[in-house]
Order: sequence, then C-alpha cells, then structure tokens
Amino acid sequence: MADPITAPAPPDLEDRPVVELEDVHRVYPGTPPVRALDGVRLRIGAGELVGIVGPSGSGKSTLLNILGTLDRADSGLVRIDGHDVDRLSDRRLSALRGRRIGFVFQQFFLPPGVPALDSVADGLLYSGAPPERRRERARRTLERVGLADRAHHRPHELSGGQQQRVAVARALVGEPSLLLADEPTGALDSASGAGVIELLHELHRAGTTIAVITHDRNVAEELPRQVHILDGRIESDERVGRR
Ligand code: ADP
Ligand code: MG
Repeated sequence: MADPITAPAPPDLEDRPVVELEDVHRVYPGTPPVRALDGVRLRIGAGELVGIVGPSGSGKSTLLNILGTLDRADSGLVRIDGHDVDRLSDRRLSALRGRRIGFVFQQFFLPPGVPALDSVADGLLYSGAPPERRRERARRTLERVGLADRAHHRPHELSGGQQQRVAVARALVGEPSLLLADEPTGALDSASGAGVIELLHELHRAGTTIAVITHDRNVAEELPRQVHILDGRIESDERVGRR
C-alpha cells in the first residue's frame, strides 16, 4: 500500500488547508511555567503567503516549531498537510517534515566549504532520488532563486543575501507543501532583505504555501495576510486586498 506521507494527497484532500491548528497550547515547564501558546487557532490554505508578526517573546518561534513539526503541542489539534501530527510516531513525523516542509532561518546554516549546488541537492536526501537527479533539480532550483551563475560558489564566496537565497533553494528543492521562514531577513542589510522578501513573493505567485515570521513592519505590511500574535494568542488575522 502507498505510504500516505510520501504518496500525493487523494483528490478529496486537496481542498484541505495545509495547516489546521485548533486550540493549541504549548507550555514550557519552569517556575513559573511559560504559556508560549495559549489557545491558538490558525488555518493556512494551499498557496497562501502568511506573515506571523509580533514582538519578541510573543510565541512566534514556538508556533513555527509546531507548524514545522519540530515540536509537539501539549494539547489541541495540529494537522499539517492533512496529517494529524498527534497520531504520527516520531519516525513518521520526521518523514513528514523531511518531505513536506521546507525551513529557512535567520542564520543561513549552509555547511562551510560546500558549493551551493551540493547544499541545495542535500535538500533532497530524504527523497531517495539518485545523486545526478538531485543535482539536476538543485540546478533548476538555483536558477529559480536567481543564482544559476553561483552554483559552484562556497558560502564564504557569497553575499549574505545570496547565502539566504541558497538556503531558500535548499528548502524549496523538494517542492514542500509548506515553506516556513523564521526572520529570514534578520541577518541581512535592508537591500538584501528586500530581495529575499521579493523572492518569497515570487514563490507565492508560483503557488508555494509560505508562512514567514517577521518583526519588520515594512515586510509585514507587504504581505497579503498578517497574523498578529501577542502573549501566545492570536490577536488579529488580517487579509489585505493589496495583492
Ligand atoms: P518569539 O519567537 O516571538 O520571540 P518564542 O516562541 O521564542 O517567542 O518564545 C515565547 C515564550 O516562550 C518566551 O517567553 C520565551 O522566553 C519562552 N520560551 C521559548 N522557548 C523556550 C524554552 N525552550 N524553554 C522555556 N521557555 C521558552
Ligand atoms: Mg523567535
């Protein structure tokens, strides 16, 4: 029987949101305990570009870790790409994460000394594709992020903005159902940051589902949907008609 995590979703699942959270709680133990997420409800449909906005300590990274299945909720429903995370073993959760979710962080986390093409191709290790096929897909994805001519450059030979584009390509090469970015412009000057955000807009126009955490108001204002979080609760969820 086909593995439900690796097989394409059956047609009746296609209209399902990529993300469904209902009454999600996450408490970090301690004295006192920290209620990092306190009853979060969030749906993200296929093809959306959503900004998650809020001050430091409001719970953004905790939320992203749960969306990315890097962490589990203490209670509530978490359904990612149609899979009820609570019912998956750690092993199956890793498979879901490896195949269906792409991550971009503030730090680029590119392995030093490794050419861009190989870093991106490594994003397909989970796919089981043979090396030549991985490199071909990596080449095409580097092209998508505007770095076809930098495929053989190592991280120290690339600007910060270019390194982040490589990281985006690595996250994207497996065609994930969900691309998650936590402050992707946080380590960049404003011009390179704007370039990375424009890239996310381009990917959105091409159909990728993206959730991006930012505390940069200028970045947030340009996003078609903004979810504001404060003290672990969603304060507002606005769709902007601009795009
Ligand atoms: P943000 O990303 O919006 O800055 P976080 O999700 O990182 O917020 O943190 C939310 C709250 O949970 C903060 O008060 C933070 O101090 C606390 N917190 C985050 N991670 C942990 C942890 N591993 N253990 C204990 N408390 C944590
Ligand atoms: Mg954070």
